[in-house]
Amino acid sequence: MTEDTNRVLADLDECVAGLEATLIEVRRHLHAHPEPSGEEVRTTEFLAQQLAEMGWEPRVYRNGIGVSADVVLGRPSDGAPLIAVRSDMDALRMPDEKAVEYRSQYEGLNHACGHDAHAAMVLGLGLAGAAWRRHSETETLAGPVDGVRLRLIFQPAEETSQGARWLVEQGVLEGVSAILGIHVDPERLAGQVGIRYGALTANCDEVAFVVNGHGGHAARPHHTIDSVAAAAQLVGALYQFLPRSVDSRQPSVFTIGEIKGGYAPNVIPERVELRGSLRTTDPHVRETLKRRIGDIVDGIEEVSGARVRYEFLNPLKAVYNDPQIAAALEEAAKQVVGKENVALINRPSMGGEDFSIYLEQAPGAMLRLGCSPPGVEPPLFLHSQKFDLDERVLSLGTRILLRAAVLLTDRLRPSPPSAQEE
Ligand SMILES: [Zn+2]
Ligand SMILES: [Zn+2]
Repeated sequence: MTEDTNRVLADLDECVAGLEATLIEVRRHLHAHPEPSGEEVRTTEFLAQQLAEMGWEPRVYRNGIGVSADVVLGRPSDGAPLIAVRSDMDALRMPDEKAVEYRSQYEGLNHACGHDAHAAMVLGLGLAGAAWRRHSETETLAGPVDGVRLRLIFQPAEETSQGARWLVEQGVLEGVSAILGIHVDPERLAGQVGIRYGALTANCDEVAFVVNGHGGHAARPHHTIDSVAAAAQLVGALYQFLPRSVDSRQPSVFTIGEIKGGYAPNVIPERVELRGSLRTTDPHVRETLKRRIGDIVDGIEEVSGARVRYEFLNPLKAVYNDPQIAAALEEAAKQVVGKENVALINRPSMGGEDFSIYLEQAPGAMLRLGCSPPGVEPPLFLHSQKFDLDERVLSLGTRILLRAAVLLTDRLRPSPPSAQEE
């Protein structure tokens, strides 16, 4: 790192140092006013207004949900890469059982995945840019290094894996060279960071099955084609054969989470519907298992006489962290929280994250920021009714993302032509 970059980073720290109270205030406002996936209209208005007040121009997306704004730090040169920083903003349809003054004011809605915190952290980059602008006007902070160009993205509907797709379709990534993401992680103490190179989350495929038989009397199954028995066989066969179809050292899991069918204990129904979720981290394993599901369905049709239709729905690829961008996040995190608090994540999560949709357009990486308040055992898990976080992590998140953007700007800038070429 050059001396100039170091100086810029020191200046940035000074900008963010004064922002902590504002970040907490923003997060508490969002936390008290949660909106579910696809309905984040007031959240969008609030964030757009904050950005406008800082002097940035907000772009609001279709149906008034989702907002982005381009922000500069310092004075970027023409060749400076545009770096996107993504936050989500949706809450979950579940009760908030916390006894704090900023608890949800809306019945049955809860920011239980920390997306309020992500929005505050990313808004912090806009605040830092505005603070830098004010400081530079008084000449205290005009670093000689190229400025940084940022696109702050606040997306709706992450929990339903739709929001990233909506914004990408509307051109949110036009001109973007790299994208950064962050998610809070209650399984780590506040201030600890997890970084992963390669697959961070899983490929997710929903599978819907419809088993069609012939209904009839419970006492005379020989007059029927029993859809319940076929469905039961199907679940058993999938659970038995899928894991044995791929190398056991490659992570994969298949779960049926929903079964519907039947009218009464003494009636064999015509049809049974099942829905499940396939999670994999390797594209070949994913293809193999999808094919094997087809084979197993064929086999169940053969032995049961039932017709089984199936389809894959809502495919979502794994988040695959780009090595260069993950390295910038790792370095930034080490500078902010100290080497001893940054760990490599040794296994991908089997969860899904629609950050992967941006990665189809631009390389990027996402980090996990520990958020558990010390002394709380067991941790307040994501999607649990009492989920809360240590708010000191808000400014840490902002600082890590800022530093990573500065480091990346330095690394992604086109290099000047060498002497020999001239
Ligand atoms: Zn979630
Ligand atoms: Zn989440």
